[in-house]
Amino acid sequence: MMTEATQIPQIQLMWDWFINMVTSIQLSDVLDMCIVAFLIYKMVGLVRDTRAGQLVKGVLAVLLLYWIAELFGFGMLRAVLAFILPYGAMVLLVLFQPELRKAMEQLGRSSISTISNIQLFGPGSEAKEQERQKTQQLIDAICESCAAFSKDKTGALIVLERETKLGDIISTGTIINSDPSPELIGNIFFHNAPLHDGALVVRENRLHSAGCFLPLSQNYEISRMLGTRHRAALGVSEVSDAVVVVVSEETGAITVALNGQLNMRLTPAKLKELLQRELIHETEEKKEHNVSKILKRVKK
Ligand code: ATP
Ligand code: MG
Repeated sequence: MMTEATQIPQIQLMWDWFINMVTSIQLSDVLDMCIVAFLIYKMVGLVRDTRAGQLVKGVLAVLLLYWIAELFGFGMLRAVLAFILPYGAMVLLVLFQPELRKAMEQLGRSSISTISNIQLFGPGSEAKEQERQKTQQLIDAICESCAAFSKDKTGALIVLERETKLGDIISTGTIINSDPSPELIGNIFFHNAPLHDGALVVRENRLHSAGCFLPLSQNYEISRMLGTRHRAALGVSEVSDAVVVVVSEETGAITVALNGQLNMRLTPAKLKELLQRELIHETEEKKEHNVSKILKRVKK
């Protein structure tokens, strides 16, 4: 049994160990811990509301079981789990390839956006104003054409690329790389025109590629009434931060797919409001937020 006299040196020993450990922590250790904590935080955020969330819970349960088997010496259970785990990991990699891809893309997107925003220190407000005007011209051209498409029921599918680069989608179409105009957009989606099938991808405020093939959404909850054009719009909005505008050939309804959600039955005025919010205000706010974050870090 421990007496009071032996307890005091014990506490002293633990205290010394603690102080030793704290004083031996180096800057690289802190950085190391921050990166791991950030990665865990991001991963949890990414999988929380997806089918991968359930999977992570399942994997944690199996790991817990394995740990219990080790702790209590359950030889057979441990052997079975040790046999299953490596194969299980491979099966999961294959099954959850779309989720993993999405997670990696999102991770890449957040670091790329931080780096790319550093360029804001260079060009001043004049360059920003020019960019804003170009975006406004693009929005006007899209809204004018969509209003016309909606009236005469011409099907259209327009993908506005933002931070997630859509090179693999662009390469499935025909490069046009033109200034935006309602006339050209009208020509592309004109009934039976060579490029009317598929999607028009807009990159850096220019009509970049037409007749592109998009990934279809795997979301089974969306209405059966919606066909492949709407599923394609939703699909690309699930794997990227693109804003996707759809005009239905059947009903003339205007829809915007954004972050895996469909915003339906928009009027041309509502469409303009949404595009301005997403392409001008949100983008500028995001950039300013990132720049102030960088400035704060530099000051520290
Ligand atoms: P609508 O309301 O216009 O009829 P919908 O959602 O019912 O649209 P469909 O009727 O199946 O969809 O539309 C077919 C058209 O959608 C195709 O001709 C093609 O232009 C476009 N489309 C379908 N799938 C894709 C895809 N994966 N990528 C790009 N475009 C696609
Ligand atoms: Mg249809």
